[in-house]
Parts: sequence; structure tokens; C-alpha cells
Amino acid sequence: MVKRRYHTKPNTSKRCGMMTAETPPAWNIFKQIFAEHWDGFKRVHPRYNKPYYDGLVDKMLGCGDPEKMGYIEYRCLHCGEGTHRVAMSCKSSLCLRCAKVYVDNWVSQVSRMLHEGVIYRHIVLTVPAMLRQTFYQQSKAVLSPFMRCGVQCLDDFSSRVSGKPLKGGYIVVLQTHGRNGQYNPHLHIIATSGGWAQQARQWVHLDYLPYSMLRKKWQWHLLTMLRQTVKTQEMKRLVDACYTRYREGFVTNVHKGDVPSRYQSLATYLAKYVVSPPISVRRIDRYDGQRVTYHYRSHKSEQVERETVDVSIFIGRMIQHVFPKGFQRIRYYGVQATKTFAKLKGLIQEALAKVQGIVKGAIKIMAPLTYRQRYQQSTGRDPLRCPRCQREMGVWRIWHPTYGLIYNELKTIERGTYASQAPRAAPTGSSGRTVWPGSGGISLSLPGLR
Ligand SMILES: [Zn+2]
Ligand SMILES: [Zn+2]
Repeated sequence: MVKRRYHTKPNTSKRCGMMTAETPPAWNIFKQIFAEHWDGFKRVHPRYNKPYYDGLVDKMLGCGDPEKMGYIEYRCLHCGEGTHRVAMSCKSSLCLRCAKVYVDNWVSQVSRMLHEGVIYRHIVLTVPAMLRQTFYQQSKAVLSPFMRCGVQCLDDFSSRVSGKPLKGGYIVVLQTHGRNGQYNPHLHIIATSGGWAQQARQWVHLDYLPYSMLRKKWQWHLLTMLRQTVKTQEMKRLVDACYTRYREGFVTNVHKGDVPSRYQSLATYLAKYVVSPPISVRRIDRYDGQRVTYHYRSHKSEQVERETVDVSIFIGRMIQHVFPKGFQRIRYYGVQATKTFAKLKGLIQEALAKVQGIVKGAIKIMAPLTYRQRYQQSTGRDPLRCPRCQREMGVWRIWHPTYGLIYNELKTIERGTYASQAPRAAPTGSSGRTVWPGSGGISLSLPGLR
């Protein structure tokens, strides 16, 4: 078992990059808000008085502190001078500091699922204001069926448009917040532009989408799902009211053109629309102990709007978007989710080639940035190069708050078993974020630095 007695501070000047330059100033304000008001908030909102939420807050408060979160220490194994210590990321969904890593991973995960040569569309399905309150109260019961019914709606829609039953491929991302952090659940769906016709055994590409029909279909699917999932008088009343009030159906938004095919723009595109924290730290302007001022860019006015709210409202706006434990907010449906899709790809590309003359819009796969690349990007300096001799540093030790010292280069040298079993500094381009130390088998995550 791991013994902690090896955990002594090295006698060299240490640079702790992530504790200094990269932390946005508002991050400390954000932490302070939770440190000062979380207990009070829980008392008023017992829904959140649960170990699960406490855990998220605790982790977030400790994020960036190597002594609390654990760390990997690099040391120059040539001259012995240079050291670099990296704290583990907290991965709390409340942590705005880790959000960037989350976005990067997300983009890379989704990119891997996009098939080259297939044209995708980005469709947004929304929930009208009248229903949002109920949605929030019933979120545990409703969120999963919500994601499913978006897919059913699109399959139904494209089948109707093409005149035969079609099954499309869908990547569905659930988002619960609008721009100002208020509760506004909606689905972002990256959908194939058409679907697989099982009987005809062919891929049908849809060029034209009648939007008014989509709105009505969405209204029907969403309301039917709600009526079946939440069987209360209140829901029945709301559903009826929605049919009367929204005669043109619910708001759906098909982003014009195909999902960008360019390697660079894909990341930005997806991240911009799909994954962003409810209120990013960059947008917090002021906190006086009781009230928080933040800004956001409004969809409606396309201008920067400023809002000052009571601190409990601010905490509420952040915490209400935390998903239930284990909830998957990105899901793959239809042909996209199956092995069939890989087999179908040839057929799909052929069909698209006929339609368009040439298959374009090939979506490239991108690898997530490593800690090292990220650091280099924001500071212009390679964190794993020894500042004294300019050679590459190696992993010196890895310390985890629960498991103690799980890797110790010095011990390995002393035991005389020194061979290069150390996880080396991750070379640029490889996925260096997760390290699997031979001894412990614990997966450790390195933090993001923006
Ligand atoms: Zn964090
Ligand atoms: Zn050196």
C-alpha cells in the first residue's frame, strides 16, 4: 500500500503555474460567493441540501489547490533544478475553471462521432416559457424523455417529409440554461440531413425542410410526452393552454447551412452553441457580499446586458443547471448510435454524392488539447521544459489526497529498479491528460488552464 512518508516538499524553487497566471480574477469571487453563502442557500432550498451537491461545492472550492486535489510533480531528471507542479482538476460540474476542459473533451468526443462525408444539421428544439417552471420541478422525471422525444419528433418529421419511414442519426445535447443563466431547457441536436429507409434499403437525403411543419410536430411530441410523463391535473391544464396559445407550434431553430465542415470552425461552433457554463467567470463584474453583478450577450438585443441579483439567486442560477447524478447530457440516437451506421456510411456517401454531385462537408476528427498544449497556448511557455537546462522534465511524483503518494521516482531509483517505467512528460499531440500510474491504476486528470 502507498505510504505517505515520501511526501516531502522538494528543496528546489517550485513554480506552480496553474495557481498563478492562468486563474481569471473573477474565479476567486465565484469561490467566495459559494464559500460564504452555500450553507445559507441550502437551508432555504432543501432540494439542494444533499451530499451530492455538497460534494460538488467542496470539490469546486478546492480546485486548483494541489494539497487538496492532489498533483503531479515534474522534475528535471538531467540537472535536478527545474520542477513543475500541476494540481489535478476537480471535475465538479459547478467548477467554471474546469469547464474549459469539459468543453474540449466534449468537442473531441462529439467530433469522433461525426462521420466523414455525412452532412449534418444543427437543430434547436425549445420549451415555451409557460412550461419551464414545471419542467424544473419535474426535471428528474422529464429530462430523459425530453431528449428521446426530440429524436422521435425529428424521425417523424423527416418520414413525413420524404413520404416513407426514415431513421436518422442524432447527437442530442441537453442544455438547461439561456444566456443569462435562467432556466430554459432546450435540445441541441446534430442531426443527419435525412435518414435510412429500412424497406428500400437506401439513404434518403432531405434538402428541403418545411419549418412550419417542424414547429407543429415538435409541439405535439413535446406536449404528448409531458402529458404521459407527468400525469397531473396541472399538466393537463398546461398542455391544453399551450395548444391554444401557440397555434403555430413551438420554436425550433434550424441553423442555416450544414454544420461547418472545417476542422477549426467545428470546435468553436459546437462549443459556442452547445456547451458553455450558465454564467462564465469572465462575466462576473462585481460582488459586494450580498449582490452579484454579471453581464451576458442577449439573443434578443444582440447587446451586452448587465444584471444585478441577490447572491442566493445567483447561486440558484448556477446550481439549477447541475444535472442529477450520473445523468448523461449527451446521447446518441438512431443510426448514429449503432454499428449499422458505420456499415451504412458508404451508402450514405453514395446517396449524397448523387444529390450534390460531390461529397463535401467532410468533418474532420480533432484530438483534445493536452495540458501541455493548453499551458503553452495561454502562457507561450512549455511547462515541461526545464528552465535551467532546457531539457524535458519527467514525472517525479504523483500525489493524491485519498491514495497518498502513488508514484515516486526517487523511490524507484533507490530500489535500484530504475527503468523508464515513469509516465514521461506527454509529448505534444498525444493525449496527456490522463495518466495511469503502474502502481495504483487510478485515473488522474490534469486541469485546464483557461
Ligand atoms: Zn475545477
Ligand atoms: Zn534541467
